[in-house]
Amino acid sequence: MTDATPTVPVLPGWRHVYSGKVRDLYEPDDSVAGVALRDRHGDVVLVIASDRVSAYDHVLSPGIPGKGVVLTQLSLWWFEQLADLVPNHVVTTDVPEAVAGRAMVCRRLDMVPVECVARGYLTGSGLAEYRETGEVTGIRLPAGLVDGSRLPEPIFTPARKAELGEHDENVRFSAVVDLVGPETAERLRDLTLAVYGRAEQVARERGVVLADTKLEFGTDPDTGELTLGDEVLTPDSSRFWPADQWEPGHAQPSFDKQFVRDWLTSAASGWDRAGDVPPPALPQDVVERTRDRYLEAYERLTGRPLAL
Ligand code: ATP
Ligand code: MG
Repeated sequence: MTDATPTVPVLPGWRHVYSGKVRDLYEPDDSVAGVALRDRHGDVVLVIASDRVSAYDHVLSPGIPGKGVVLTQLSLWWFEQLADLVPNHVVTTDVPEAVAGRAMVCRRLDMVPVECVARGYLTGSGLAEYRETGEVTGIRLPAGLVDGSRLPEPIFTPARKAELGEHDENVRFSAVVDLVGPETAERLRDLTLAVYGRAEQVARERGVVLADTKLEFGTDPDTGELTLGDEVLTPDSSRFWPADQWEPGHAQPSFDKQFVRDWLTSAASGWDRAGDVPPPALPQDVVERTRDRYLEAYERLTGRPLAL
């Protein structure tokens, strides 16, 4: 990876422990403030969504102003919608002022090393696999499906989490069983499909197709319970399509970083996806249109405006 390491904020009482492509994680430090945090909340992490945007496994610049706030607020909204189906990692949104709106204090989970994906529609890596084998992660699908087809029923298509800068790899259910055992594997599948089912219905009522989504679960060390972590049902983890424009047979317009991907792969960017040169800086209009898309996703799904 040639992308630069992100600069992260200094937060009194918290120590930076990890940065993924989008999120920065902190734990309470050993200062008086940090010890007080631990006394109050137990074993927690501060999960901050930055404005970083990634595409084709590169973190791009500049970021999308306000994107981290949209991701965090949308996740919080969904955690509430799903609270009766699955416990989640949120402890409080009382966070340092510098990251207000984009951060949440969460239970520190032992993350399950599986990306739990549910698909109700065929596209992306699922479509690529289907075209080669007629299956997705070993699940056989009917013949004749095209990009954007609705599946006969939603399917669980897990992927193995890759190292930073690598592609996640779709795997069969049996590989999940090998990793975590049959009971946990089945619970992961059932929870993922339950969450997808609920969310797909909520989105549909609001004119949005939820084509697929990726969840991350972890075990709460205190209760031993599988708990929904990370972000949930955001445009970074899910494909949302405007329902009135859904038309199988080609790529669908979507509420995410479509403009970023389209620009990167267009002649205008001059970037070679197969090469090893990092992508060029995003033009201002791509940044602004992407920001509008994220905001629109939030507003359509939740039915309320978000002041950034
Ligand atoms: P990667 O983590 O592989 O770099 P990513 O680029 O998608 O993937 P981010 O989403 O930027 O990563 O970072 C979030 C990280 O925090 C993920 O590794 C996720 O598994 C982890 N995480 C999320 N919630 C929790 C939690 N409650 N406890 C511990 N780790 C968590
Ligand atoms: Mg992530």
